[in-house]
Amino acid sequence: MEYSSRKSVVAAIKSYTISRGVDYNVYEPEPLTFYVKCKTYGNGCNWLIRTSLIRKKGCWEIWRYNGRHTCTIGTISQDHSKLDSETVAEAIRPLVESDSSIKVKFKIAEVQSRFNYTISYQKAWLTKQKSIAKVFGGWKDSYQALPWWHSIVTQKMPDQLKYKGTPLVAVAQDGNQNIVPIAFVLLEGETTDAWHFFLRNLRRHVVKKDGVGMISDRHESIRAVVNRFGSNWQPPRACWMFCIRHIDSNFLRTFKIPHLQKLVVNIGYSRTVEEYNINYKRLEERGEAYARWCDAIGLRHWVLAFDEGHRWGHMTTNLVECINSVLKGA
Ligand SMILES: [Zn+2]
Repeated sequence: MEYSSRKSVVAAIKSYTISRGVDYNVYEPEPLTFYVKCKTYGNGCNWLIRTSLIRKKGCWEIWRYNGRHTCTIGTISQDHSKLDSETVAEAIRPLVESDSSIKVKFKIAEVQSRFNYTISYQKAWLTKQKSIAKVFGGWKDSYQALPWWHSIVTQKMPDQLKYKGTPLVAVAQDGNQNIVPIAFVLLEGETTDAWHFFLRNLRRHVVKKDGVGMISDRHESIRAVVNRFGSNWQPPRACWMFCIRHIDSNFLRTFKIPHLQKLVVNIGYSRTVEEYNINYKRLEERGEAYARWCDAIGLRHWVLAFDEGHRWGHMTTNLVECINSVLKGA
């Protein structure tokens, strides 16, 4: 018999060995020969097989064969040492080819009919990734194919592309005043779950330092996540602050008096406590309700004089808007 490669001759011997319920040891493990003897060789069974590469023909041939097995493996086991994940993955490959989401129990049944062994659920499950990679290529290859795939879809079905999802972006500024997007994610919308996912991973993988300041709008979902127990976005680990432009428009939306919000913005920009007192008084004189509205925000969240240095002078989320406009173009 001739085989095209070492891999195929080894696979044939393995398959035969598993289905017969016997086992072998490898002798002389060399690249150009594959020589194995029955595990009980010399103890009642003389089975052996020796195969080699024939360079002239470019194929593998069986040179010595001493059959059949006269031994039997005493114990009936649920598994076989030669029934490794490679062999299982190869056996279930046709199944995965026709249906990549095939259920594990069908894989177990296939291995059973081929080799007469019932492999564990865990083993069958673990080989799934291996056989999927064999059939479709690995995740890396699939990912590389995405831009090409996308360009074809755009060409063929231009009307069917309706993008959904909301990008959440974190932007920072370095010591050289460079604006740097440090993390982004595409999610279903500005839900609490979405913000939780983003802020948790931002803290875990990117913003590992303590004492950082985070400026955002006053979205209720962000508030819920920041205030969640163990969020790591609370003092002293982090200081959450609001964008003054958003406070400006919130105020306008609440009271609908165009000229007054300028006074609110002035309060936010106060650099000292004295300055704050003067600006606060100016607003209070125009109406108690305005001052109470400002009190509810919380000083450290919006007034420069009380930021304990966390803002580094930044009063707005303009850096994010800047990156947003870049992303919109793309
Ligand atoms: Zn034997």
